[in-house]
Amino acid sequence: MTGIVVLGSTNMDLVAYVPRAPARGETVTGRAFRTVPGGKGANQAVAAARAGGEVAMIGAVGTDDFGVRLRAVLEHSGVDTDLLRTAEGPSGTAHIVVDDEGGNAIVVVPGANGSVTSLSHGDEALIATAGLLLLQLELPLSAVTEGAAHARAAGVRTVLTPAPARPLPPELLAATDLLVPNEHEAAALTGRTDPHAAARALLDAVPEVVVTLGAAGCLYAARGAAPLAVPAPRVRAVDTTAAGDTFAGVLAVALAEGRPVPEALARAGTAAALSVRREGASTSMPYRAEIEAALADPATLEAD
Ligand code: AMP
Repeated sequence: MTGIVVLGSTNMDLVAYVPRAPARGETVTGRAFRTVPGGKGANQAVAAARAGGEVAMIGAVGTDDFGVRLRAVLEHSGVDTDLLRTAEGPSGTAHIVVDDEGGNAIVVVPGANGSVTSLSHGDEALIATAGLLLLQLELPLSAVTEGAAHARAAGVRTVLTPAPARPLPPELLAATDLLVPNEHEAAALTGRTDPHAAARALLDAVPEVVVTLGAAGCLYAARGAAPLAVPAPRVRAVDTTAAGDTFAGVLAVALAEGRPVPEALARAGTAAALSVRREGASTSMPYRAEIEAALADPATLEAD
């Protein structure tokens, strides 16, 4: 099987653009407002589907209007939502204030995501037939750990983005094949700010690590092998929102297709670079044809 199962979150991002963030007790007038479908799980699912993967999503949306829209966005991208539950109550939301200096402050309310505390028999059956399971940390850790352990028992490769950063249960690490932190998450997990040192420390817990390094690309490390640094294509960055999720989703597709790690990293890096050239989260994610074209002629990617 080359199918990808994403066990993860769906959130509606509610974004207010303000000159400066309000202090406690203060009201400021914003200049614009947008609702943007997101959540790390849904973003990775959309990125993988656009990159040509056969993708199914396990998680939950709420019974509110946001839930209808979040499900529709996934379906529109070709993601199978048969096992995406509808949980009584609100969908997950992220309340984001972006100031004129590009800084932001975020409140995440898990909503329906919080209801996914364990897996159903149907979830387990789907995971057992997958080519790869993609996980993040925006669902309750009990479900994430159960999903990873189930995949491991079925011989299904597990890829975990440890975001948002938090301590990981040993059982979850023990069932993780490939850990994909950004440099901040790698530092939070290990106490090492140097990505090489952090990657080495993480190899004590998991067999393979990719530390993403923003515009500097990524660092791959595996037990018993020399580390591999993969530079990112140079592009004019407009919006790096969801670059990490694009990277993880496209990496998953390439690995599930059986591509060697260096090639898979090049595809993921190219797709993430394409996504940062455009505004938005899932709306900025490239389709397979764009990724192939940029790989075939990297000059076009780096030129404008
Ligand atoms: P990050 O989560 O910031 O580490 O970004 C994830 C991945 O997205 C990186 O490993 C890069 O492949 C890509 N990326 C992020 N920012 C940029 C950028 N400014 N230019 C090119 N690629 C980027």
